[in-house]
Amino acid sequence: MRISFSRGIKIATDSWKLGCDITNSQYFPLVFYSHAHSDHIPRKIPKTNIVCSSITRILVENLVSNFEDGKFHDLYSIGDTTFSQIPSGHIIGSTALIIDSPESKVIYTGDVSIRNKGFIEPFKPEKCDKLIIESTFGSPKYIFPHYDEVIKETQEQIQKYLEEGVPVVLMGYALGKSQMLYHAFSHLSDNIILHESNAKINTLLAEKKVDGAIEATTYQDAKSEGLLEKTNDWIFFTPLRSGRNEFHSSLKNKFNTKLFAFSGWAISPNYKYQMAVDHAIPISDHADFSELIEICEKCNPREIYTVYGPKIQLAAELRKRGFKATPLSKQTLLESFF
Ligand SMILES: [Zn+2]
Repeated sequence: MRISFSRGIKIATDSWKLGCDITNSQYFPLVFYSHAHSDHIPRKIPKTNIVCSSITRILVENLVSNFEDGKFHDLYSIGDTTFSQIPSGHIIGSTALIIDSPESKVIYTGDVSIRNKGFIEPFKPEKCDKLIIESTFGSPKYIFPHYDEVIKETQEQIQKYLEEGVPVVLMGYALGKSQMLYHAFSHLSDNIILHESNAKINTLLAEKKVDGAIEATTYQDAKSEGLLEKTNDWIFFTPLRSGRNEFHSSLKNKFNTKLFAFSGWAISPNYKYQMAVDHAIPISDHADFSELIEICEKCNPREIYTVYGPKIQLAAELRKRGFKATPLSKQTLLESFF
């Protein structure tokens, strides 16, 4: 089995060739998309065999304009090798891939989390021979505080503002983070407003009856109905932007809003100032360093390949703990010949 990285992860044997989260998917007879974040899917969906979850399929079919008729599969097999999926705990519809053959079991996590966020099913590590794992927060300095405690403290802070007549703006990626934020905070007010980018995904999820959609007013409707002036206990969900951007600063000037940014990077004390927000909340869709180590320990593979983010550092940390770990790069395959 040959595993390498170039515009995504390539895995090949003499009998099959697979591209995982690969942007030049058209060259692969079989591809796997772990989730619908734009850095994991190509601009053009190819006419090939595609393994992904049904929710990822809905998102891809609606969010990628350049679309050919790919053949979608929940499960695929070639000879005695099967390609199946389990939840990866990252965002709605995200999955990890399991490649099972008589010779070996390989798991590719995609973006992953094992924390219970009460909304999407966490990744459940399984024993395997080879593990390909993401490294976004793959450095010991990235340890997130307990999820439930962060949510509780933030709920209390939001409630306090709303009681004082101060509306709040909650920012996170429209796909993934926002559904997590709706789940945690939308019950705190009857006046929920969605930015158009959030509303587009929310409408799609509602139409397709996918869990994660909420009842809300779009910003345009709220503006034309004068909702923002009429009430002052609204919660406005928007994509993640700097507080210095014109849209957010004009909201602040007009309505005295408090701005919350939700991101794993908020564990850095500078993040709040970089983003010019009132509150920077360290909540991520990704595993932190301790989760990544826990996943590796529970999967207990013979070989680990690290991808994305500080993959060299994560591989070094794993080697310290006795694992055979290699950062996956274009060179990985070449090196194995020398
Ligand atoms: Zn992602």
